Amino acid sequence: MKVTTIGTGYVGLVTGACLAEMGNHVVCLDVNPDKIRVLNEGGIPIHEPGLDAVVARNVAAGRLQFTTDVDVAVNHGTILFIAVGTPPGEDGSADLQYVLAAARSIGQRMTDYKVVVDKSTVPVGTAEKVDAAIREELTKRGVPANFAVVSNPEFLKEGAAVEDFMKPDRIIVGSDDEQATLMMRALYAPFTRSHDRLMVMDVKSAEFTKYAANAMLATRISFMNELALLAEKVGADIELVRRGIGSDPRIGYQFLYAGAGYGGSCFPKDVKALVRTGREYGQELQVLNAVEEANDRQKQVLVDKVVARFGEDLAGKRFALWGLAFKPNTDDMREAPALAIIEGLTQRGAAIAAYDPVAMSEASRILSTNPGVSFCERAEHALADADALIIVTEWKEFRTPDFDRFKSDLKQPVVFDGRNLYEPMMMKTLGIEHHPIGRSGKI
Ligand code: NAD
Repeated sequence: MKVTTIGTGYVGLVTGACLAEMGNHVVCLDVNPDKIRVLNEGGIPIHEPGLDAVVARNVAAGRLQFTTDVDVAVNHGTILFIAVGTPPGEDGSADLQYVLAAARSIGQRMTDYKVVVDKSTVPVGTAEKVDAAIREELTKRGVPANFAVVSNPEFLKEGAAVEDFMKPDRIIVGSDDEQATLMMRALYAPFTRSHDRLMVMDVKSAEFTKYAANAMLATRISFMNELALLAEKVGADIELVRRGIGSDPRIGYQFLYAGAGYGGSCFPKDVKALVRTGREYGQELQVLNAVEEANDRQKQVLVDKVVARFGEDLAGKRFALWGLAFKPNTDDMREAPALAIIEGLTQRGAAIAAYDPVAMSEASRILSTNPGVSFCERAEHALADADALIIVTEWKEFRTPDFDRFKSDLKQPVVFDGRNLYEPMMMKTLGIEHHPIGRSGKI
């Protein structure tokens, strides 16, 4: 099939590359010429495991192309995915300007039947707006409307995006149009061969499902983070509690880890947008208000622990910080807890020596105006003469470090373990002062 992705970011590029892998002919469009140049020169503008190989293979096979030319892109695809950003507006609602601009650009150019697919995360009712924007442009041109808009929210996880796209838990298609539904079924058939995981529903329910999923996951995290704060006070161990409740199949183990707060390009903005939608309809979403508030507070927990240990004035103090990306296996720094933590510490006069396996160039761009931060090429280099180590992202390479270096390189062996990577008893045995999240140190 002929497919176009409008937007070649995390979602658009992964979608385009994985669809090309199944034999489709895909054109990926972006308004950012640098991104397209990098891709056309054989590079990959984001860090995503396995993506480079899929892209290279399909470019070589002539099934995957990148362009900034809107005419070429719109004319190419019968199925046009809109995969542009939907950042939060000032009031927290999803900013639809990029989605609607993409819709208009389709309406200004299309000449034959198109299935326009909202892949971006968009509030309930957006498909109607996309439909109206395309229709308006077609009316201006005097061209009959020959298209359908469907919703197909994306559930991939950054860091495992290719795997998630290739082996999805489910594919949600919101469609009120029979022909479009058939085409979406055909497009996704190779991804659901073992058993049918494609669910067709009405457009609004599909749009809602994406927000409901992210809001539920964010809720689980904030719930555990809040219980972790209480566990510290009452002397319980949140990690034991996690295992205790996770064993109940109604609860399950996933997304129950206490830590330094959630970040990324999805949870914070999607929770805000759903709360905002609730307000628009006079329905206050009290649970989600609390989820967001608890997360903002959680991003400060490591700062609070450092202040409790070293005092409010951190001038002259230096901290090693391991992990900048909002989660492992990505270079995405959007809403990363590390940013809030670095700000909280440098505002108090501290210097930060930071290390991340892949997010350092993105982090140095974002933090270029903060003179309190320096970057180290290797994790151990950050330890030299630091007053303590702060762990913010659970990269695998931090799980079993050379603990002797904590004792020899840090001024004193103090670790603020924002992702509960180390067992408290083991750290005690090693003579390392350990400050995890919500752990009593009984194992
Ligand atoms: P991104 O910022 O990485 O990519 C968006 C791209 O769209 C950018 O490269 C931008 O230049 C381009 N763009 C903007 N306007 C354009 C236009 N008119 N024509 C062509 N290109 C245009 O964003 P992303 O992370 O890929 O997210 C895209 C959407 O998918 C968002 O709604 C997001 O919430 C959703 N989503 C993201 C993830 C994720 O893990 N990143 C997962 C599921 C859903």
